[in-house]
Amino acid sequence: MTTSDPLLTSTDLARFHEDVIDWFAREARDLPWRRDASPWAVMISEFMLQQTPVARVLPVYEVWVDRWPTPAALAAEPAGEAVRAWGRLGYPRRALRLHAAATAIVERHGGAVPTSRDELLALPGVGDYTAAAITSFAHRGRAVVMDTNIRRVFARVVSGVEFPANAVTAAERDLATSLVPPEDAHVWAAATMELGALVCTARSPQCQLCPVASLCRWRAAGYPAHDGPVRRGQSWEGTDRQCRGRLMAVLREASGPVPKIGLDAVWPDALQRERALDGLVADGLVEPVGDDRYVLPGT
Ligand code: SF4
Repeated sequence: MTTSDPLLTSTDLARFHEDVIDWFAREARDLPWRRDASPWAVMISEFMLQQTPVARVLPVYEVWVDRWPTPAALAAEPAGEAVRAWGRLGYPRRALRLHAAATAIVERHGGAVPTSRDELLALPGVGDYTAAAITSFAHRGRAVVMDTNIRRVFARVVSGVEFPANAVTAAERDLATSLVPPEDAHVWAAATMELGALVCTARSPQCQLCPVASLCRWRAAGYPAHDGPVRRGQSWEGTDRQCRGRLMAVLREASGPVPKIGLDAVWPDALQRERALDGLVADGLVEPVGDDRYVLPGT
């Protein structure tokens, strides 16, 4: 991200705040984790939304909050049930970590999601972003929330580039911190995230609908092309991830231990299949139970 240019003037920054927050008041999607922004509901949603689009998260999220309305309810069940209910969201280690976080919340915090950043960061699976999101969206506190959507909006509007760096830099964090408004920081975080998700999208920004088009430096510069490292889409067909997904689907749908032959049937490449199964066992997502049979953990 460019840091040599001056930041927005105070007048432009005030407009940036006002225009994005007004747009959000008109256009925000009615999402269940906004309606019930309890710390636990926000935590579930944030775990699910990492690397997974809203439309795929919605049905699974509804099942989870119905079945496990509190951290204690989830912690009382085997981790394998969390993995099973994760369904086809992908990256199922997130389900294990969420279960581990629920257990830690019960053991260390009496079943209530903690409020301090340090206590949040000490929970399994909670990093800088998730801690900031819980502070902001659930506790309505002041936090610098930096997800891919927010980072892209700031890169374009303020730094005049198409995309931020792959990883958050200190300069980028300083910039995001300097942009947080004196009041309603939690609305600012939600509004800039929504703008990136709905209007300033990665591939086809809809500048004609954008409330801050007149402030946007990337637009004013004529949309210069991204000159950083190549951004690759994630391939899927034939990958170890796809193989792991197939094996997990068999185990999720089974009501008891699955013989190895039942796993062998869903992926033809034996070498890749063994590697994927070993990886799932090493990650704690699958347990061998003797006689060459496998189950979800603790089930
Ligand atoms: Fe994104 Fe276009 Fe708005 Fe700039 S004007 S912030 S590129 S949607």
